[in-house]
Amino acid sequence: MANTILKAEDLPCLFENLVEKYQDTRLIQCGTKEKQRWRFAPGEKSTEKVKPLAKYFPELLSLLNSLEKYSICEKHYNQCVANDYFIENLKKIDSLRSLSSVQENERKRLKLMVDYNKTMPKFRTTLLLR
Ligand SMILES: [Zn+2]
Repeated sequence: MANTILKAEDLPCLFENLVEKYQDTRLIQCGTKEKQRWRFAPGEKSTEKVKPLAKYFPELLSLLNSLEKYSICEKHYNQCVANDYFIENLKKIDSLRSLSSVQENERKRLKLMVDYNKTMPKFRTTLLLR
């Protein structure tokens, strides 16, 4: 009988499809070493680490329910699961982003005020004429 036990390296890496899309997060390319260590994605430690990552990689959210179909290559295990540096960095990028969106909103608000002031004199005149 054929051996049907799935090995971790037979499964695609959980992060494989995210690398291109999220280049700005410095997610590294999948490991291509021949003798690298693959781990099944649904390990206790991995799941615990992947969950907060889903906040930054929405694609991971839908994968969380089917983790058993994925594994994690050695490179991504080291980057995303074995240490917190990557997620800490994501948090930093995220707070910088929200900071700039606050500034963006502020700018829009100011612009609105300017527009409002431009239309005001006319409005005031109308009021005075009454
Ligand atoms: Zn990988």
